Amino acid sequence: MTTACYIIASILFILSLGGLSHPEKARRGNLFGIIGMILAVLATILLARDTINPVLLAGMMILGGVVGSVLAARVKMTAMPELVAMLHSFVGLAAVLVGFATFLAPHHLTGAEKTIHDVETYLGILIGAVTFTGSVVAFGKLNGMIGGKPLLLPGRHLLNLIILLASIWLAYDFIQHGSPTPLVIMTVLACLFGIHMVAAIGGADMPVVISMLNSYSGWAAAATGFLLGNDLLIVTGALVGSSGAILSIIMCRAMNRKFISVILGGFGSGTPKAGSGAAAEHGEAVAITADQTAELLKNAKSVVIVPGYGMAVAQAQQSVSAMVKKLTEAGIRIRFAIHPVAGRMPGHMNVLLAEARVPYDIVLEMDEINVDFPSTDVVLVIGANDIVNPSAEDEPDSPIAGMPVLQVWHAKDVIILKRSMATGYAGVENPLFFKDNSRMLFGDAKASIDAVVHGLA
Ligand code: NDP
Repeated sequence: MTTACYIIASILFILSLGGLSHPEKARRGNLFGIIGMILAVLATILLARDTINPVLLAGMMILGGVVGSVLAARVKMTAMPELVAMLHSFVGLAAVLVGFATFLAPHHLTGAEKTIHDVETYLGILIGAVTFTGSVVAFGKLNGMIGGKPLLLPGRHLLNLIILLASIWLAYDFIQHGSPTPLVIMTVLACLFGIHMVAAIGGADMPVVISMLNSYSGWAAAATGFLLGNDLLIVTGALVGSSGAILSIIMCRAMNRKFISVILGGFGSGTPKAGSGAAAEHGEAVAITADQTAELLKNAKSVVIVPGYGMAVAQAQQSVSAMVKKLTEAGIRIRFAIHPVAGRMPGHMNVLLAEARVPYDIVLEMDEINVDFPSTDVVLVIGANDIVNPSAEDEPDSPIAGMPVLQVWHAKDVIILKRSMATGYAGVENPLFFKDNSRMLFGDAKASIDAVVHGLA
């Protein structure tokens, strides 16, 4: 019965991941995931019914469920990566605790079986400890408790290498003698490594780090599955581990970063150019009013909207949706251009647009829309900055050099909605604002869009 439930749950998890690959099927994918997880929990309780303390289990499940529900209901969309980082840290901590519990529990294994058991214990604790402290630091960086700048200790690569070699030697010692000392020393080293690894990674690489930690948390869960002899945990951990790794690679491509150089850290340590200096270098940015923007839009045939983090901050998606409706009714061709790392998490913009009921068929990905900018009359950049920065293409020494960007400057007119001349997430000055065909519509994105909609009437 348990095996049957586990197989069904595994299939539901795979269907869930499949569903999450497209906004139209994402809701169904989530539902599959929920049903799979309920089934998995029930089957596991059934399996362990003789050894379990029902009061303790129910108490813990109620406590965890209540805390989780309250947090999930309260979290703002913009704070989602922090929550995810925090949840990864729990997976890491759980793997460490299960590892030590298994080590302390009496067993009568000998020979190869004992070696395998020891390796599982050691690896579970190692991956878990790195995931735990790495995720806590990522959480701190994302919510601003820890500065976004990379921490670059002298000889940091050597330090990491020493930790790696020490871990291998400690593993040998642990498997040989089975004493707790090497296990405890390795745990401390792995915790320090997790802190050091994420602290060395600069702000602009954080999205990749989050999905990388997602992957680690999956492998930590899989190692725990081996320890507990639970097949479903192995399968689920492997699914999370591999999908997190695939997402990391997709994101690295979107930011034109090599995965290994992300892990080695140090990106984003250059001092960004100061605003005033850049103005002197690029000329003056020209402002535009909401009414003038409405006029430009009315006379356009083709409009592309580029949403970014600022649209999420302003919660402007409903107003944007209302504007799109008006322009479509007026016979104007309107589409959205989505950069893979727009906002603060993969799919951030898609979620906001889906919430505002924007039809999926006018929401295009970067590669689909980039070729269309030269034939576009007006581009509205709503609270986006890094993802439309031409210096990624033109300035080889820019911290975002080589990152693929939306080439909005090829359009006839570009209107950028933001509150000031401040830089975006990567802290890099944006020459787009100073181009001849660019105009700045200053103010909160929601208020600006509402004023444009008013001007369209
Ligand atoms: P950016 O962070 O580059 O720029 C956002 C802009 O929005 C700012 O320049 C800000 O300017 C403006 N803004 C903020 N609040 C408002 C508001 N209320 N109204 C109007 N404008 C506002 O965002 P992008 O989406 O362009 O780029 C995403 C960046 O985040 C990339 O560097 C990416 O690597 C990184 N990142 C991406 C993640 C992901 O997975 N998607 C996760 C973590 C980081 P001003 O203050 O002047 O208003």
